[in-house]
Amino acid sequence: MKKILILTAGFGDGHNAAARNVRDALEQSPAEVEVTVADLYERSYKKLNIIAKQAYLGAVRYAPQLWGGFFKLLDHAPWLADGRGMAGLHRSLSQLIEETQPDCVVSTYPAYGQLIQSLYRDHCERPFRLVTIITDSRSVNSLWYRAGSDRFVVCDPATAEVLRQAGVEEKAIAALGFPVSPEFAVPPKELPECPTRGQRLRVLYVINTGQKKCGKAIDRLLEIPNVELTVTVGRYAELKEKLARRSQAHDGRLHLLGWTNQMPQLLMRSHVVIGKAGGASVQEAIAARCPMIINQVIPGQEEGNANIIRDANIGVVADGRKEVARWVERLAQDGGEQWLQWRRQIEKISRPDAALRIAALILEECEAANQVGRPEKFPALPRAVNVLPTAIPTPSKMVTLAMRAQLARNKTGPLLCDFHVHTNYSDGKLTVSEVVDFYGARSFDCICITDHWTDPRRLIGKLARLTPLTLSYDQVEEYFEVIAREAKRAWRRYGMLLLTGLEFNKDGPTRKSSAHLLGVDLKLPISPRHDLMETITRIHAQGGLAVAAHPHLMKSEWAKETLYLWDNQDKFAPVIDAWEIANRNNLFTPVSLRRLPFLANSDFHKPKHIYSWKTLLNCEKEAEAIKACIRRNENVSITLYRGEETPGVVEVASQMLEQPPLPFSRGASAAKQLANAFGPRSSPMGDGLASGVRR
Ligand code: ZN
Ligand code: ZN
Repeated sequence: MKKILILTAGFGDGHNAAARNVRDALEQSPAEVEVTVADLYERSYKKLNIIAKQAYLGAVRYAPQLWGGFFKLLDHAPWLADGRGMAGLHRSLSQLIEETQPDCVVSTYPAYGQLIQSLYRDHCERPFRLVTIITDSRSVNSLWYRAGSDRFVVCDPATAEVLRQAGVEEKAIAALGFPVSPEFAVPPKELPECPTRGQRLRVLYVINTGQKKCGKAIDRLLEIPNVELTVTVGRYAELKEKLARRSQAHDGRLHLLGWTNQMPQLLMRSHVVIGKAGGASVQEAIAARCPMIINQVIPGQEEGNANIIRDANIGVVADGRKEVARWVERLAQDGGEQWLQWRRQIEKISRPDAALRIAALILEECEAANQVGRPEKFPALPRAVNVLPTAIPTPSKMVTLAMRAQLARNKTGPLLCDFHVHTNYSDGKLTVSEVVDFYGARSFDCICITDHWTDPRRLIGKLARLTPLTLSYDQVEEYFEVIAREAKRAWRRYGMLLLTGLEFNKDGPTRKSSAHLLGVDLKLPISPRHDLMETITRIHAQGGLAVAAHPHLMKSEWAKETLYLWDNQDKFAPVIDAWEIANRNNLFTPVSLRRLPFLANSDFHKPKHIYSWKTLLNCEKEAEAIKACIRRNENVSITLYRGEETPGVVEVASQMLEQPPLPFSRGASAAKQLANAFGPRSSPMGDGLASGVRR
């Protein structure tokens, strides 16, 4: 078993992306690995960190020049980011190292090199190898290399040269490319061909922070004939709603996507991408061999990235939306000449498999660490240097993630389940992978994701405003793919079953004509246009469960009440597999009076909803057994989940989720980091129910 600790930070673009992609690549390798990703700033400062991040985003949006200045200052004033005096970071790091006992530590953030150096300052050699992945290119802040590292991974030969000039040893430098997602190494279904007359130019437009005028930019781009535009708006649901009104005008040439997990595929199928010069964004475009039109550059930090595009002649830096449009016009109209030129250049430098190569290098370093003769137990860490005493890890903390997952997979006894969970594919706050980490860290055994799925014919009048709140037609296939992919990770990492589902929202003008129906464990999408009976037939045809969601009167002012199924029990009771006897904090006693088969779910939309009613099933931990148990409705009980007492966590999570993440940074955010931060500390499998759930 090789143990790897990846250190990252949520500031700026690229650190989290690099950390996540290297983790994914390591987890794909056939070697037995245990990877821990941690944000030390997150662990150490929590609330303060939120303020710092907001300050960063604010500075970038309103005073980019100021941020540029700060960045240069960092380069000359080591004390600003020095580990000394930062007791919180020290404490977190030494604690993490004791918990994870890594063979190799991987740093994706410049300040960690010095932190590690100062931790082992007066001490014997550090007992692990250190690999530093430099996420900047060309304009490399000296913080990255000042403290030394066993290996430095850089994204291109020019950056390697910068390091050499600064005196870094040749053999320590590896120019392997930027660690983009390993998915870039999988060839796309559909490649862009040369855009010639009559064929559409596929343009991908990634909306970034603070782009208020993107509506006008979109209109301008669609004035160009033969342009097909895909726009991703990230988590800006309001913006998506605003743009949705616009899109009706453009005969199917505008595709509007909210949050997407398919950025690699989108980039690989596009002719050109318009976006900001973030480190990860530029590198992803290069990996996808998709030329880039840059529409925003943060001075200092991102200038190097913009220069890559300029110098390699694989796109342009455009000044303002008019110039962006002029370049798109040129690409669409010169018979493909300009595009072919860029494309040929980009193919020369593209490294789509960089994350896999970096993973191989890290595994090599782990080998090296073991050959040197790793001490049986790590030497105690120095505690004198401004470090407060670290807590001695309790046995439960020492239970490693891999052992925990193994125990979870073989678990017998009551399974803790939640079959009604929303993600940001509809109106939930978390991404699918954040939901997996959130529930996984809380030792759940089985959950089903059920995003809202609505018949467009019913979206009349003001209801049409709800469009961004339901899963969109453009993304339903992606939704199934992503959940299937995450299901594998959930099983491997947490021993948790993840099922795909949909919540069919059949809303009429009154509560008596409205019904919400869950399809649990679906293999394929089912059209939302069928009536309820036909929908249930199709759910059953796939082996799924049809569950009546919140079937009775609810005690909350916001909820839309849905009584249609209840009022028509004669017709539906024979075909419904279970009725929600509890939905979040509502209990429906009539379900018990009628002796109907029951389930309890949280109707999860955001972290605080975890504290609500759940189902316990006494059956084998396997999808078919779970469904059979629900159908028979024997050995089913409900429980009010209270989880572990972690004051402040929920508050922090929800606050952090208010902020939009940086563009291109898929999936990394508060909940994941929280899961990482709290995961190893939660109780080992098996006692989750005893300590975590009040019966
Ligand atoms: Zn509902
Ligand atoms: Zn729901």
